[in-house]
Amino acid sequence: MIPHRCVLACLVLGSVGCNGRDGPPAFDGPPVRVTCTTTIVADAVQRVGGDRVRVDTLMGPGVDPHKYIPFPSDRRKLDDAHLVFYSGLHLEGKMADLFEKNKDRWRAHAVAGGIDPAKLLNADADGGEHDPHVWFDVQLWKYAVEAVRDGLAGLDPPGADTYRANAAAYLKELDALDADIRKQLATVPADRRVLVTSHDAFGYFGRAYGFEVVGLQGVSTASEVGTARRAELAKLLGDKRVPAVFTETSVPDDGLKAVLDDVRKSYGHEVKLVGGDDALYSDALGGPGSPGATYPGMVRHNVGVIVAALSR
Ligand SMILES: [Zn+2]
Repeated sequence: MIPHRCVLACLVLGSVGCNGRDGPPAFDGPPVRVTCTTTIVADAVQRVGGDRVRVDTLMGPGVDPHKYIPFPSDRRKLDDAHLVFYSGLHLEGKMADLFEKNKDRWRAHAVAGGIDPAKLLNADADGGEHDPHVWFDVQLWKYAVEAVRDGLAGLDPPGADTYRANAAAYLKELDALDADIRKQLATVPADRRVLVTSHDAFGYFGRAYGFEVVGLQGVSTASEVGTARRAELAKLLGDKRVPAVFTETSVPDDGLKAVLDDVRKSYGHEVKLVGGDDALYSDALGGPGSPGATYPGMVRHNVGVIVAALSR
């Protein structure tokens, strides 16, 4: 019988390193072996690290990080890495706990972990944990890029100048990206600036670019959707005559479809479900060759889709 993946994960990640070591491998020159949790984090590491890094990623394109359960092969990827970068702020659910509890075993850095809490949103109205989806505000994601730069330079001082130069060029590119999408998003009329998605990933986007943002599910996809929540969302869509809602590449769309049926029946309003090739990239990049294969590509794709669907 094949053991359940959860049981495997405990066996795999719960004991000492697979090379008989309790700590990370010694680093004696490039390439720096880096293991990242999400594709979004890996993209920043590749941009800053350039030729000096070899990047491996645990969660591939389209994978939901909130509910991710480690594979047996993840242990080797973590144990073999000189550095581990993860997003942090509890995005990675169970994996984040693992990094917190095993600080000596891996050199693990949470790229969003050092962002000034005053700049962060709460995960819900009652406060509590922070919303982890910081990459949807391009200005905020720059802090993560700086954390990557500092993490790489700390392990590999001879490469520090390279990391600083790569990061500086990339941060400049992100400023240009931010200015560009601001211009595009400004064309969406004020009364149509409502962004409805499968889960609450776009809070920072809404704050940065002036949209009311509503997710069917909460900040984590691990939460259940109650009937009250569905009815509340249907009412908002019906009352505001919202023209379109958006599916996400890393979240199933059946929940949103059910809400749109309710809106049709109860409010006589037809809402467009934007999906397929136009689904928004939320917690994972797209595969190689797709428009969302890089972080700037993902941002441009999302903004293009949002502007097209909500403009008159
Ligand atoms: Zn999410």
